[in-house]
Amino acid sequence: MNLILMGLPGAGKGTQAEKIVEMYHIPHISTGDMFRQAIQEKTELGLKAKSYMDKGELVPDEVTVGIVRERLSKDDCKNGFLLDGFPRTIPQAEALEQILTDLNKQIDSCIHIDVDQEVLMERLTGRRICKSCGATYHLVFNPPKQSGVCDKCGGELYQRADDNAETVQNRLEVNRKQIQPLLDFYAQKGRLQTVNGKQDIDQVFSDIEKILSNIQK
Ligand SMILES: [Zn+2]
Repeated sequence: MNLILMGLPGAGKGTQAEKIVEMYHIPHISTGDMFRQAIQEKTELGLKAKSYMDKGELVPDEVTVGIVRERLSKDDCKNGFLLDGFPRTIPQAEALEQILTDLNKQIDSCIHIDVDQEVLMERLTGRRICKSCGATYHLVFNPPKQSGVCDKCGGELYQRADDNAETVQNRLEVNRKQIQPLLDFYAQKGRLQTVNGKQDIDQVFSDIEKILSNIQK
């Protein structure tokens, strides 16, 4: 089962990825892990990628795509894989099609965990941290007993700059623009499956299981 998982920040992609790989015994392939592994193993492409990263430059597509090709050729991908964070662009998606054709594989499903902007804002801006002990809270999911005060030590709670509404909104906007063409790309191929990510974690996973059981037939 060859899968791509897509979703905006806060959609719960990481949680669902963990559940999918555990249930279906396929490797979770994230771009970050893939780079780290290639660099650690000192493959030619890994070293090339490192040379760009050390200079603070973007790793060019040809290098990234080469690393993806190496990774997907490994034995543990024989029965499938879950790609997370790749492809990010249409040229990368096209390159991935080529890689998979060469390996005699194809993407079975691109699963999109879809959550409204409003809900994502609520999830992503609700975090509060204790100034004294570092305990984290969430206004909706894990609120402190008394507003603005840490349950554990009585310290003052604050919001990190990264979590403020404007920053989060910009981040979501940038991400939305990035994934939309990819969702269209897989929709056109009839391989896009959308899951309602507003539901609770287990319900989202149960919807994903339904999609995957149809693929396995
Ligand atoms: Zn505290």
